[in-house]
Amino acid sequence: MLTNALNHPHSHYGVIGNPIGHSRSPLIHQAFAAQTGLSLIYTAILAPLDGFEATVAAFRQEGGRGLNVTVPFKAQAFALCHTLSERAARAGAVNTLIFPPNPQGDDIQGEIQGDNTDGVGLLQDFAFQGIKLLGKKVLLLGAGGASRGVLAPLLAEQPAQLRIANRREKTAQALIADFADLADKTAFTACALDTIPAEPFDVIINATSAGLSDTELPLPEALIHADTVVYDMAYGHEPTVFMRWGQARGAQAFDGLGMLVEQAAQSFYLWHGICPDTRPVRDLLRAT
Ligand code: NDP
Repeated sequence: MLTNALNHPHSHYGVIGNPIGHSRSPLIHQAFAAQTGLSLIYTAILAPLDGFEATVAAFRQEGGRGLNVTVPFKAQAFALCHTLSERAARAGAVNTLIFPPNPQGDDIQGEIQGDNTDGVGLLQDFAFQGIKLLGKKVLLLGAGGASRGVLAPLLAEQPAQLRIANRREKTAQALIADFADLADKTAFTACALDTIPAEPFDVIINATSAGLSDTELPLPEALIHADTVVYDMAYGHEPTVFMRWGQARGAQAFDGLGMLVEQAAQSFYLWHGICPDTRPVRDLLRAT
């Protein structure tokens, strides 16, 4: 819903996705704005599955200045950009769109800039939670836009092994081809979700969108050992299905709320040039 945009042509931001009702991004950006004294509007925008580009165009037409992009549109957002940050170009996925004002006037729309803050958001949350990857065996579930965004930073942490498992194995194999040059310190492999070898991993990251429909993934029991950490990029009011799967087998489990706040802070900086303090916003989200 592009509410109020015409009244505030220079301060409308939002998150676009499908589904989008679950998103906490509006609360986060409004909290950052209050903390930093900025006046802005940030709304959740539902785009039809076949209408991403048209919805973005309408948002810009009404004066929108920036969008966060979520499931399933990160690859389409990438394709829409005229210029890309190095990390977004590397990822092939964009989660932050920037629509700078056109120096010739607002009637002529300027270029679209794209960036990807998911990777830095995930690693900042890992640092916050004390999750270490150096020399570890890591399993990444999913091969969509979120996985693309986090792969380069994950490989930079030099895990001993990084296996990507995806429902469609071909997509996971494509990620291996795209990121193999960054994996000189890591055994970097891919497989289908239902053929993951039954062996333990130290860190298991769920970057599938299965949780949005409360679907349990078909995972072998033997993936968990006494010190395994499971991390779900998804989040909800209760522990997610994936977190509960891990907890029931003795793993320490985290949701993606911290990642969400950290990647949002990076987007906020890209749009407004101010770094907000994430800690009080983490606390606020946990409390609400
Ligand atoms: P995409 O639509 O780009 O990719 C979805 C992925 O999930 C694909 O790998 C897809 O497999 C897989 N998948 C979908 N449904 C199922 C299912 N029923 N069983 C198994 N696999 C399934 O989404 P994104 O990569 O953008 O987002 C993925 C998740 O990560 C979402 O839940 C999103 O909310 C979350 N996320 C959270 C962030 C945070 O800050 N906390 C940041 C980014 C993402 P296939 O290729 O076979 O279709």
